[in-house]
Amino acid sequence: MEVRRISDALKVRASHQADEIAHDDIRRQISFAEWDREADEVGGGLAAAGLVPGDRVFLPISNAHAVEMAIAVFAVFRAGGIACPISTRLNPKEVADYAALCGPRFCLTDAPDLVKGLDLAGCWHVDDMPRDLAALPDQAGLDPAADAEILGTSGTTGKIKGVVISHPDLMTGVTGHNQDRSRSTLNALPLTGSGGNIGIVMLPARGGATAITQPKFDPKGFLELAKEKRPDLVYLVPSMLRLVLDHPDVATYDMAGVKYLMTGTAPLPHDSVKRAAELWPHLRIRNSYGMSEGGVGIGTRSQEQVLKPGCVGKMPAHMQIRDEAGNIVTEPGVVGEIYGWQKHQRRYWNDPEATEAGFKGGWTKTGDLGFVDEDGDLIMAGRSKELIIRGGYNITPLEIETVLHLHPAVQQAAVVGVPHEVLGEDIAAAVTLRPGCGEATADEIIDFCKAHLGDNKVPRTLVVMDVMPLNPNGKILKKELVAPLTKAAEARRRAA
Ligand code: ATP
Ligand code: MG
Repeated sequence: MEVRRISDALKVRASHQADEIAHDDIRRQISFAEWDREADEVGGGLAAAGLVPGDRVFLPISNAHAVEMAIAVFAVFRAGGIACPISTRLNPKEVADYAALCGPRFCLTDAPDLVKGLDLAGCWHVDDMPRDLAALPDQAGLDPAADAEILGTSGTTGKIKGVVISHPDLMTGVTGHNQDRSRSTLNALPLTGSGGNIGIVMLPARGGATAITQPKFDPKGFLELAKEKRPDLVYLVPSMLRLVLDHPDVATYDMAGVKYLMTGTAPLPHDSVKRAAELWPHLRIRNSYGMSEGGVGIGTRSQEQVLKPGCVGKMPAHMQIRDEAGNIVTEPGVVGEIYGWQKHQRRYWNDPEATEAGFKGGWTKTGDLGFVDEDGDLIMAGRSKELIIRGGYNITPLEIETVLHLHPAVQQAAVVGVPHEVLGEDIAAAVTLRPGCGEATADEIIDFCKAHLGDNKVPRTLVVMDVMPLNPNGKILKKELVAPLTKAAEARRRAA
């Protein structure tokens, strides 16, 4: 058969390796043949319920139902719909806002309470999806260039935006680390973000490897699965990796079967890399950079071990560093904004303004800062939106967070700018502490910063928190830290 869409690629897999396991969420495993058949059945079920090509299907499905997520996404493709995966860990207001943006007609979910208020033509629990094989549309009649998905950004810097990913994007973009059918991956990151959705849900259809998903992340469970399942590659976001590394029994788990440790989606503290490398010297550690806007088209796929701070692998040919005037920076070591080019220019769903601001002539303005070093590696320097301008100097929070992470007691660290009457902005930090590392006070940690940073970069305000606000993708929600840290900075100034 002609493979025009990723859903056609699954059909080919199903004929070549019918009985091999495609997805395993511990509760349930499905083979390629079962995945293919169920996608047909549910695709037909959606068509019978009235889905017409272009209809959006909302997919708030947790990792506990990774198998059903894989069936649902491919069922939507085969029905001609547009899949809208979304985290079940968002609050009802965020879900309602995102639904208002995407305008879904149908929904498949394992969190029905979350979508109760939405105006839908059909909504089913993933344990009871509609099935009607006879109603499945002729696949050859579906437009190969149609929109396939709307992927939500993480909402780290503002509201969640919907990035439109087309079928051709998926055909070129779904490639990666488990291209080899003999391999398996163990994943803890959410399957609704771009990395999880494209890199885990879809990749087996293309590459033929088995994707194992931990139903709900916890560090001990993850270590146990890695030992028991012996996956070739484990995939964690940096905040999860820290929890795994801080687990008191981490050294007792046998990771000999694992070859690669893959991380990404957020800055990776360098001491995590160092600790992982010490603990598991045989592991190849990779940190890749990507974003929803790129699908997997913009970003890096580090094939090399990344042992340099902030390194996300080789700078690809289709990416550039540009200065504020938009000129290309070629000199090594000079920080600028990262731009990425792709053949099919992206757009945000229902948001012409953000589309106009973010995409031009195939180029995506990522909003991320970085530089290329002497070796041609891309080194991340943070987000342009998060730059702190203190007394006229540009300060990247990442530089200060990197130092905070060097303190042995610091587990998580986030630095934000807070308003200051004279300087415009001042630097404030929030940290959480590693268990079992003794008590460190805010003043001690500030003194530590003084020993490692220029005076204008030292956070004057530092708050030790019990928990860090994280979004469902495990990223620190700095926007939620600004108000409490502003308050703490004001209190400190009043007391001084
Ligand atoms: P929003 O766009 O809604 O504010 P977001 O940018 O966090 O949220 P995603 O598209 O999920 O949403 O994440 C992409 C961003 O994550 C990148 O633009 C970059 O800032 C950050 N990122 C991804 N990978 C890495 C990495 N390896 N190192 C540092 N930062 C990374
Ligand atoms: Mg973004």
